[in-house]
Amino acid sequence: MSRFKDRSCPVCRVTFKDTDDIVVCPECGTPHHRECYMSIGECGVSAYHAEGFVWKGMLPDEEKKAQQEALEKAAQEVEDRREFVSSDPHVAEYPSGVPGQNVNSTRGYGEADSGNGLPEMDALSQIPDPYQSVYRSIREITEDEVRGKDGVSGKELCYFAGKSIIHYAQAFNAFRNGVMRNGKLQPVKVFFNFCSGLFSPIHQFYRRMDILGIVMLLISGIASLPGVFLYWFQEKAIELSASMVSTLDILSAVGNFIGLGSTVLLCVFGDYLYYRYCVRRIKRIRVNYDDGKAEGYYTALTESGAPSRLRAVIGILANMLMAQFVMRLPLIL
Ligand SMILES: [Zn+2]
Ligand SMILES: [Zn+2]
Repeated sequence: MSRFKDRSCPVCRVTFKDTDDIVVCPECGTPHHRECYMSIGECGVSAYHAEGFVWKGMLPDEEKKAQQEALEKAAQEVEDRREFVSSDPHVAEYPSGVPGQNVNSTRGYGEADSGNGLPEMDALSQIPDPYQSVYRSIREITEDEVRGKDGVSGKELCYFAGKSIIHYAQAFNAFRNGVMRNGKLQPVKVFFNFCSGLFSPIHQFYRRMDILGIVMLLISGIASLPGVFLYWFQEKAIELSASMVSTLDILSAVGNFIGLGSTVLLCVFGDYLYYRYCVRRIKRIRVNYDDGKAEGYYTALTESGAPSRLRAVIGILANMLMAQFVMRLPLIL
């Protein structure tokens, strides 16, 4: 009986009591009130039998909800790194605690909390398997202090990137350690990030890659010039020689191609460029923190690396100004 305590019947959704007469589905093991089982003549979750559902304490919908919540909670925990870093100095560097290092937070990731005597729901074990292993590996990357061939550690990179760690931890790992292909770890420079290309140059400014942002801004401006001139000549009914028209046509096609090409390139290689940028900046910051051993180092990494909304706004304005400038250029000349 005790294992059904606080669990609910799939038919009436009422929590079982000690005195209830309970029957268990022979196929999936879900407990029901005998009356409820009899009233519908089959298991209350028989719809889930086909997908192999087995009762482990939760009904299928409760299980999905718990998994979703645990996944969100876990994602939030990584995303909230900045707040963790700046709060309690004892847990500052390790949001979830490092076993054996600190009496106040001896809880490793996904371990039960023995501190307050109350067993806590193991958040991570509720995450379905493919996500769980991904999450565990991200967790390892964000806490890895060993410097790689590039001279920086996974932890430094993740603290510097500051936001969207789930994405960037995987990207950095692919660049630094390679990805499995045909059973072998192979180095890559490709990692898809559609924001990087589609929201260029705003995304580059947001991620503090000012030089790349300016380059992208100039490329998009210059690439659209032939089209703007062609449009303007037609609008003003200015007579052009046939060869001039065809030259402008070709140039504007080339411009479109360059614009599209740079978008695609950033979608594909944007994260690699960002990774190189992070490595350079981290090494520069580290010098001021006793080779990374000084207090406040990781906080400083996050502060100087984490994306900035203000910069995104400046990027949007710069993009608009560039568009306006290009549109008016024929008038100026
Ligand atoms: Zn019932
Ligand atoms: Zn069943």
